[in-house]
Amino acid sequence: MFKKSQQLYNKGLVNLVGAVNSPVRAFASVGGNPLFIKKAKGSTITDVDNNTYVDLVLSYGPMILGHRHKKVQKAITKALKKGYSFGASTKNEIKLAKIVCDAFPGMDKVRFVNSGTEAVLSGIRLARAYTGKDKIIKFAGCYHGHQDALLVAAGSGLATLSLPGSKGVPEGAVKNTLIANYNDLESVKAHFDNHNDIAAVIIEPVAGNMGVVTPQDNFLKELKAYINSRGALLIVDEVMTGFRSKFGGAQEVLGVEADITCLGKVIGGGFPVGAYGARNEIMQMVAPLGGMYQAGTLSGNPIAMAAGISTLTELKQQNPYQKFNEIAQIFEGFLLESAKKYGVDITVNRFGSMLNPFFTNKKVTNFKEAQTSDTKKYATFFWEMIKNGVFLPPSQFEAWFLSSALTQKDIEKVAKAIDKSMEKVAKVAVES
Ligand SMILES: *Cc1c(COP(=O)(O)O)cnc(C)c1O
Repeated sequence: MFKKSQQLYNKGLVNLVGAVNSPVRAFASVGGNPLFIKKAKGSTITDVDNNTYVDLVLSYGPMILGHRHKKVQKAITKALKKGYSFGASTKNEIKLAKIVCDAFPGMDKVRFVNSGTEAVLSGIRLARAYTGKDKIIKFAGCYHGHQDALLVAAGSGLATLSLPGSKGVPEGAVKNTLIANYNDLESVKAHFDNHNDIAAVIIEPVAGNMGVVTPQDNFLKELKAYINSRGALLIVDEVMTGFRSKFGGAQEVLGVEADITCLGKVIGGGFPVGAYGARNEIMQMVAPLGGMYQAGTLSGNPIAMAAGISTLTELKQQNPYQKFNEIAQIFEGFLLESAKKYGVDITVNRFGSMLNPFFTNKKVTNFKEAQTSDTKKYATFFWEMIKNGVFLPPSQFEAWFLSSALTQKDIEKVAKAIDKSMEKVAKVAVES
């Protein structure tokens, strides 16, 4: 079933690190070797051995319309004919900036960058520039890209590899990073009681990098009110949730407004785009208006802008958010039903088009609880889903994503696959 993938994997090991360009793709926590992909279309993805799967990875979020949407492909093709990069401003940057600023009320201005990592590291620099303070608070289990300062207790990739942090990060780089617990305002207050130089608190408004963990009731609103009263800014990392939870991100759903918003993933429609934005008074710190330097040779790339504009325009028109909720609820139903049928302990968390099961009998409201999951069971489940034609993230600590291209047939295929996979999980658990 995976012969050609195996061959490519062996070849890839020679000149690539682990044959991958991002660690979670290596399947380290589910065992076995990574699949190599040949192509994708709509709701499905096809590997080099010609196995076709319903895609619930979607490039870890960006492909919200499914793959190769006609309108997006047309826009990209048109842009390609005019040139690939100019190192100068184009009309489409203004167009995408307006779409983004209109979607997020707290954003008067936006700066485009090339990845979510870059968006966040710039957003943090901005918070420090604006407040004149150095410390930041992050939450255990939240991932904000691979910049030094935030590679502590950083969820998915590290959790998958069971690493507390990354080697190569000097102590000095994380000495201004404080860790709080998700859904626990007291743990934030404790830091403010001990430090008077906190510039910002950064959070995934709905965590997606420790598996899906949703914020309780008024957690974000209370967090924002409290930290603003202490002179710190709220950086909402919507790299995953932006345009996915709702067009205006999780902020729109939760009724909270960030001081600084970071975006990525969906905003580039599959191309490398990130962005950070805020109110005018904050954004005017950024060069050339202000003294905070941040730059990029390929930032605002014309092909990427075309992909972003066409993706967001189509997304707004489709308005698939209600449908996403319904499908996620259906998948949750399948999971709970089959788990009950075969006597497997699971908890399902979901928010809009993000969901995943945790193989635990505990509620999961923070990183510690997420880590009670039986990752061996997830590994069994993962491979059985693959064999039954559903592509899932190869880690217990990643969210499954929905695309608006999912069909009724896909949903039925997922249902069958879940039932068979859960049966296998129960069987393996008994045998071992
Ligand atoms: C993916 C992700 C990032 C990093 O984005 P990259 O484009 O991979 O650099 C940052 N924050 C969150 C919440 C993410 O999900």
